[in-house]
Amino acid sequence: MARRKKIYEGKAKTLYEGPEPGTIVQYFKDDATAFNAEKHDVIEGKGVLNNILSEFFMLGLGQIGVPTHFLKRLNMREQLVRSCEIVPLEVIVRNYAAGSISKRLGIDEGTQLPRPIVEYCYKDDALGDPLVTEEHIAAFGWASQQDMDDILSLALRVNDFLSGMFLAVGIRLVDFKIEIGRIYDGDFQRLVVADEISPDSCRLWDINSGEKLDKDVFRRDLGSLTDAYSEVARRLGVMPNNPPAPGKPTLVN
Ligand code: UDP
Repeated sequence: MARRKKIYEGKAKTLYEGPEPGTIVQYFKDDATAFNAEKHDVIEGKGVLNNILSEFFMLGLGQIGVPTHFLKRLNMREQLVRSCEIVPLEVIVRNYAAGSISKRLGIDEGTQLPRPIVEYCYKDDALGDPLVTEEHIAAFGWASQQDMDDILSLALRVNDFLSGMFLAVGIRLVDFKIEIGRIYDGDFQRLVVADEISPDSCRLWDINSGEKLDKDVFRRDLGSLTDAYSEVARRLGVMPNNPPAPGKPTLVN
């Protein structure tokens, strides 16, 4: 059996060279980490749930014309994506205060923000992904002004799409993080939503009870992470025994 080439091993995913040039296989692991990997555990089933949930969101975004790197799900743990150069920023969108903004600005968790707030963190584990401003991003050349305009518009479109999708199943989208990739087409580059969209990178609260259905369950030892993620998948109608039909590629051009 031929061994495939591992490109990168991250905290929650491993990336392998894809079957065709310009493609990558994303393998979703069961590993959960928090606090810059100080807390680590293996949670059976998490990778399968995130693979299917991320497919569901990326396909939906494709359907409303938001470009993503997603091509197709290959099996329960793997998906095929377009290879792209990741912009070294974590793009965070917040609708309600929670986590670091609550600590930083002393706003009670759960306070509705006057409008969605978009923040940027520089992707560097050794530095703990520090918050940066557009001044830093421009000065250090991480993204151009045109890129930043496009990234802001992508982030807000993803926010509207996800907020509505979750609201329909009784879940409040408190905040989330996305990553942006560059795809080169000859002389041109396009920006796409990359990485994953899953309860690992969102804060999701039940609208009525306030119950947390995201990675805070793990970060704050609030119970079973698989139960929480399964509840999200169940409400969206994409439990692993009833996943979205695989194999249909989304055009990203
Ligand atoms: N987030 C993420 N990866 C990170 C940092 C944050 O996916 O490395 C997500 C996190 O799950 C939350 C949002 O981004 O949905 C905002 O996180 P925050 O800045 O409040 O950080 P935290 O409280 O997790 O340190």
